[in-house]
Amino acid sequence: MTTPRIAVIGTGTIGSQTLWQLSKLDCEATGYELFSPGHSRGAAGGESRLFRHIEIEDLQYQPILERADELWKDLEAATGLKLRDISGALTFSAESAPATRIALQSAVLLGDRVEVMTAAEAKSRFPMYETDPDEIVILDKGAGTIFPEKTIRTAAAAANANGATIHTEARVTDIVQDGDEVAVTADGQTERYDRVIVAAGAWTATLLPDMAPYLATRRVLSTWFLPRTGESLEGMLPYIRTEPNYSYGLPTVDGLAMKLGLGFANHLPVDSPDTARMNVTDEDLQAVRSLVRRFLPHLEDYPMRMTPYFEAYTHNRHEYVAPHPGMPGVLVLAGFSGKGFKTSPVIGEIAAREVLGLEQKIDAKFLLDGQRVRVQDL
Ligand SMILES: Cc1cc2nc3c(=O)[nH]c(=O)nc-3n(C[C@H](O)[C@H](O)[C@H](O)COP(=O)(O)OP(=O)(O)OC[C@H]3O[C@@H](n4cnc5c(N)ncnc54)[C@H](O)[C@@H]3O)c2cc1C
Repeated sequence: MTTPRIAVIGTGTIGSQTLWQLSKLDCEATGYELFSPGHSRGAAGGESRLFRHIEIEDLQYQPILERADELWKDLEAATGLKLRDISGALTFSAESAPATRIALQSAVLLGDRVEVMTAAEAKSRFPMYETDPDEIVILDKGAGTIFPEKTIRTAAAAANANGATIHTEARVTDIVQDGDEVAVTADGQTERYDRVIVAAGAWTATLLPDMAPYLATRRVLSTWFLPRTGESLEGMLPYIRTEPNYSYGLPTVDGLAMKLGLGFANHLPVDSPDTARMNVTDEDLQAVRSLVRRFLPHLEDYPMRMTPYFEAYTHNRHEYVAPHPGMPGVLVLAGFSGKGFKTSPVIGEIAAREVLGLEQKIDAKFLLDGQRVRVQDL
């Protein structure tokens, strides 16, 4: 039997992990990247992403997060590089919010790896965070900050070291199923593969127009806030707050500022990162500034830095990990809906094993069910 030839389109968050996993298996793996692994023009810039074990949407992700934790450690061990800072992180959730029930069930599963506090207890331990009186707060001790650009760079380099090829600054313009093979065209050159995995993030609907009904592409703003004069960020942990005041924050590695972000309702709809507006208006900043005044009054309420990134969402926020609707040889990994960094190593493992027909390491059937993702006309 000949060695299977597999292409991965996009070596960002998901594609770099997929290529790393493929590079450890029996196949010839080739990546195509529009820019260069670790760039900041897609979903992965801004120096930090939250890793957490507490699940707030669906307990089926609990084993996925456990496996993700193992794979982060594997990549760190394989390369000798530190890719996360496990500092602990806080989850704030209103008692009446649906997410709270799931978070508390998740807390039971995690046992002594978490601490559940009342708002008053949290306020005395973490005085920098204002809370609503009906909120509960969960300290997730194994959570922390992922270094996204470094992770992508590292996974891509590890794949290279294992023999995978990456074409950088190469835009794939066409993917066509041709019998049992798939033809991939980049910069006017066409190559044929046995299977193709598309991990093109916010560019997915541009590259594969048939995917557009599944996806809502958004410009997502990250904003960095300094502490007020005389205040410091000491003792501040990364956090996430569930709806109705959804937000998240991560202190910068140097402790200088707190990076904050909001949820889907505050993101700008865009057709593609290629054509999106990049300037940030005062109106764009209003919601996050209100959040600071309400919940983080130790911070200045005007950001010292603001940068747009790009993410593909699905309409029900379930990631699309399934064959392309019209091309059975193309596996599409898209729509990670603002939460896909933490699980990216597992998605890479699942995708690599799926295209090679290998048994999965964990039960991932629910993730591979394309029916989970609702189609909606935009
Ligand atoms: C501001 C922000 C904050 C977030 N915070 C968190 C968090 O705290 N925790 C968490 O778990 N998740 C978080 N997320 C979500 C997470 O970062 C994303 O879900 C994840 O990065 C998506 O990965 P991706 O591979 O789909 O996209 P990307 O990482 O953008 O990768 C897509 C890649 O495909 C390449 N590409 C596109 N088109 C082509 C083409 N035609 N040819 C070749 N290459 C192509 C691009 O250049 C890019 O490198 C956040 C997202 C954003 C935007």
